[in-house]
Amino acid sequence: MPRPIVATIHTDALHHNLQRMRHAAGTARVWAVVKANAYGHGIALAYPGLRGADGFAVLDLSEAATLRELGWRGPILLLEGAFEPRDLDACSRLDLWHVVHCDAQVAMLAAHKTHVAQRVFLKMNTGMNRLGFAPERYRAVYARLAALPQVDDISHMTHFSDADGAPGITRQLALFDATTQDLPGERSLCNSAAALRYASTAVCADWVRPGIALYGSAPDYPERSALAWGLQPAMTLTSRLIAVQQLQAGSTVGYGSTYVAQAPMRIGIVACGYADGYPRHCPGSNAQGTPVLVEGVRTRTVGRVSMDMVAVDLTAVPQAAQGAEVTLWGRASNTAVLSIDEVAQAAGTVGYELMTALGSRVPVRSA
Ligand SMILES: *Cc1c(COP(=O)(O)O)cnc(C)c1O
Repeated sequence: MPRPIVATIHTDALHHNLQRMRHAAGTARVWAVVKANAYGHGIALAYPGLRGADGFAVLDLSEAATLRELGWRGPILLLEGAFEPRDLDACSRLDLWHVVHCDAQVAMLAAHKTHVAQRVFLKMNTGMNRLGFAPERYRAVYARLAALPQVDDISHMTHFSDADGAPGITRQLALFDATTQDLPGERSLCNSAAALRYASTAVCADWVRPGIALYGSAPDYPERSALAWGLQPAMTLTSRLIAVQQLQAGSTVGYGSTYVAQAPMRIGIVACGYADGYPRHCPGSNAQGTPVLVEGVRTRTVGRVSMDMVAVDLTAVPQAAQGAEVTLWGRASNTAVLSIDEVAQAAGTVGYELMTALGSRVPVRSA
């Protein structure tokens, strides 16, 4: 028998979450963001649940090629655009739309030899200060692109730095609108947080670009949970108890003996560790554990996470024996749900990081 850990990708949940984002976005079309191998879910496994999107947004040409191999004939957007001139040949071959965020990309386009003009998304830096042209330069770059025979349609985009928090989107939205207001072309501004929190407002524009919400994680947790947003977990990480230990008062658990039993108790040893992508930062001290489901019953981790194992308190599940189902995040067999966001918060990170850091040794299957 193989080691009992497995990640399950829920096609029905992806489909549901896509519909949820469509509803939030009003009349806007939806790019399903599937960068980072569909946020760790696997593009091929996520595709059946997301094929109802209007387009797919990726970072790597290989991800775009995979989508074409899967039979996707609709729009694909390269979110960081071309990295070198020959990427533009691939854009022609695979019929990709691509972001233009810097002068080097404009120069690549101007030097590109093609019979088919390309569709581009011109990116404005409205305050995130990662990619894009400053508003003062934006219109001049637009004019330069519009004059190039290599360029067909030009759309406008920006990315919010604070859509998930108190500062909000007002300042960046005002800059974007003021700079682009009389320019022709479609517009795209919203990630998951912006589309959910500012749903059905003009900010959803022509295209929204949700990623994390499609995978069932709340972009603004803990202010609102995935459940509160009507999102379902798209990934379940399941394993089993491979041993059970009876502890006496004063016994300790794991490396560094960070957990000390205060009274006799049973613990289970789970076949899941940090080499599987379960964060070593998950607390397991007496003061604080990390939530986990054993046979669908909520309990907590005890002791440090090691490379291949983590221990769980079985006090709440006295019937649990070797072989019992353990849900590290996602949906248990009894339908109980443990949000990846809760585990991420315990580990001091976000759901995005946990799903994209799933260990390469974990088998992934769809259901
Ligand atoms: C990753 C990304 C998104 C999706 O963000 P989420 O927070 O996952 O919804 C949208 N737009 C751009 C430019 C991105 O890089």
